[in-house]
Amino acid sequence: MRALCWNGPNDLAVETVPDARLVNPRDVVLEVTLSSVCGSDLHIVDGYLPGALPGDVIGHEFTGRVVEVGPEVSRVRVGDRVVVPSFIACGNCWYCERELYSLCDTTNPHAATQQPLLGYPSGGIYGYTQPFGGYAGSHAQFVRVPFGDVNCFTVPDALDDTSALFASDALPTGFMGADLCGITPGDTVAVFGAGAVGLMAAASAKLMGADRVLVVDRVPERLHLARTRVGAETVDYSEVDSVQEFLRETTGGRGPDAVIEAVGMEAHGTGVQHVVDRAKQALRLETDRATPLREAVLAVRKAGTVVVLGVYGLTDSFPTGVVLNKGLTIRSAQQHGQRYVPRLLEHLVAGELQTSFLATHPMSLEDGVRGYEMFKDKTDGCVRAVFAPGGVTTPA
Ligand SMILES: [Zn+2]
Ligand SMILES: [Zn+2]
Repeated sequence: MRALCWNGPNDLAVETVPDARLVNPRDVVLEVTLSSVCGSDLHIVDGYLPGALPGDVIGHEFTGRVVEVGPEVSRVRVGDRVVVPSFIACGNCWYCERELYSLCDTTNPHAATQQPLLGYPSGGIYGYTQPFGGYAGSHAQFVRVPFGDVNCFTVPDALDDTSALFASDALPTGFMGADLCGITPGDTVAVFGAGAVGLMAAASAKLMGADRVLVVDRVPERLHLARTRVGAETVDYSEVDSVQEFLRETTGGRGPDAVIEAVGMEAHGTGVQHVVDRAKQALRLETDRATPLREAVLAVRKAGTVVVLGVYGLTDSFPTGVVLNKGLTIRSAQQHGQRYVPRLLEHLVAGELQTSFLATHPMSLEDGVRGYEMFKDKTDGCVRAVFAPGGVTTPA
């Protein structure tokens, strides 16, 4: 089958690799209909995430059609059109029983390599390096889905593939971010980052009853989407002296009730500080890369909530003293998609949430390398490049 492989830092290629196949009796194999790039992939592409092996197939946000089921799969059938959360859950362990699916204790066969860094391992994820399980990713014609009954969600007929696609990763991640804010009527929520996850967090915060939602970014096309597709207020951080001051003033001096940080260590500005950050990161001195997170902690009101959705390294400096003295609540998780996908599909069918506008650049899988370049450089207003291994049939 054809697949997009990582062969080294900034070295991607579409190659022919062995077909995905059933390994365990509860596995399912999908023919991938659509597979999206994700900001967290850039950590692998750039070579900052240890444990990627040359030849690894990347990609973890996808939708497809079931072509093969193992003998112990009972709920999923060949021909089903399904969407699959990016983290793999077993459905049976202590964490899965508590709906903390991305922390599944069963699905990371390489737990021993991750444990020294995290203390306890995360669950497995498709296409996201060996320490995260070493699973083949979804930028391919076919993908193996372990524990098919737990991880495959049937897409309603009323929903097109592009809308369903983002119920895999960007939407459940953003929705969970809003959920972790504990929004009550009258709340003001600021969202740092107008990428797909930030936009979905903003839309979800509105759906949950936030009075005001402010999206902070510097890319004009993305801020435009935040206004026109989400109905959020926007702040161009390149045009204000201080985001913190702006947010303080616009909230009557108190600050937002919650801040969702949806930037992470990769998506920075392009000024001098960015170049310095880059140089430090290249030297593995990542301690100054956590700017958006520090800004979030400073900007939120006292006793407010900061939700961290952006992906950071393990050594970023963190303003612990500010958290204590302001009495903040910090919440975070990799997405527990299996908890949210059923209700998200209902919201999508009802038109209460929209996702298809995120797919700014649909293209063939064979164009995958160009897709990542456009996504990384944010050229041509690219929010997400979406690959169709069977060829592009859906217009933008
Ligand atoms: Zn992702
Ligand atoms: Zn589990």
